[in-house]
Amino acid sequence: MAFHLRTKAHYENELVELDLADLLKEERYIHSPQAPLVVVEYPPGAPGKEVINFCANNYLGLSSHPALIEAARQGLETRGFGMSSVRFICGTQDRHRELEQRMARFLGMDDAILYSSCFDANLGLFEALLGEEDALLSDQLNHASIIDGIRLCKAQRHRYKHRDLRDLEQCLRQTLNSRFRLIVTDGAFSMDGDLAPLEGICNLAEEYDAMVMVDDSHATGFIGPTGRGTHEHFEVEGRIDLITTTFGKALGGASGGCVAGQQALIDILRQRSRPYLFSNTVSPMVVAATLAAIDLIEESTALRDRLEANTRHFRRRMKNAGFAVREGIHPIVPIILHEAEAVQEMSRALFDEGIYVIGFFYPVVPRGKARIRVQISAAHEQAHLDRAVEAFTTVGKRLGVIA
Ligand SMILES: *Cc1c(COP(=O)(O)O)cnc(C)c1O
Repeated sequence: MAFHLRTKAHYENELVELDLADLLKEERYIHSPQAPLVVVEYPPGAPGKEVINFCANNYLGLSSHPALIEAARQGLETRGFGMSSVRFICGTQDRHRELEQRMARFLGMDDAILYSSCFDANLGLFEALLGEEDALLSDQLNHASIIDGIRLCKAQRHRYKHRDLRDLEQCLRQTLNSRFRLIVTDGAFSMDGDLAPLEGICNLAEEYDAMVMVDDSHATGFIGPTGRGTHEHFEVEGRIDLITTTFGKALGGASGGCVAGQQALIDILRQRSRPYLFSNTVSPMVVAATLAAIDLIEESTALRDRLEANTRHFRRRMKNAGFAVREGIHPIVPIILHEAEAVQEMSRALFDEGIYVIGFFYPVVPRGKARIRVQISAAHEQAHLDRAVEAFTTVGKRLGVIA
């Protein structure tokens, strides 16, 4: 019990320090389905308030799309709710396999393997494929799940500067004696909405005989002319060895993810990848709805086109309003305010104006680079976007962010 009191004091103190520094992440309860308009309880206990949502990864507006809800219902009725088993025992239905094959085809790869999240996919990938005699070359701003997956793997680790091809080449030169080398990058980076320079990466990979893995969680379904992802955008299809991605963002946003790649690599993952072997797979409901999401995306580019138009409109209007919006095409639009306190204050003031955005600060982004991340959806109407720009302008002027 003495020990218990010590731990209690320690962690309580840590929480007080976070609170004093205004660095506590507070969760807000949504009382409605995920959509462009949501009812949010904030502060806790307050009556729900309808706000326009700019912080979901609901890029294509599929989170509450009627076709996905119907598919999920049918999946529930025809295949049940849960599998109560991992895949290799008795947790695989025909439709899990169908989703793997659809994802592989959609991404232009030989085959794919499902995981219960993309976080799990990234945890299970490196350790299963690479060992001490190999090397991993990773962009310094890669997603937390890639960093953790790399930690689990015995391969030599090299971190190259963000999107820096020269530094990557330096790392390739330093690892000439490795058996296999794998270059690892997010396709679209979640904090800045910038894209990996895939053409340059593929050129270097070919020159130095390395493999390339892209995590396209923030791209699958909407980046590229038909939404295949960053490899389609940069026209490097066929030059990427492995793609990991999530179903938890544009593809309906429930849960699940996959690795797609060469047949032999996928086959080895099925034998050796620990989160695949020892953790349950996605629910039949989620499989059915994700298949419906792929149907919609393959049938028409209307949703990704709408998202592109919305993104262009919002970026242009924010720039005209005086905000320092970095050039880009991604529906992630970061508004950098530098200090955590400024970001917290601005996101609260915007909430009062009916605009739901979240501030990001250390340790999610580097110190001094605190920001509000706006995320555009195909489901936003132009009036929603214009309303947000107005609110940003009002609040930005009041807080001295813009003139
Ligand atoms: C969101 C995200 C993940 C995690 O996906 P989940 O399926 O929610 O676990 C992994 N990698 C990147 C780059 C992401 O943006």
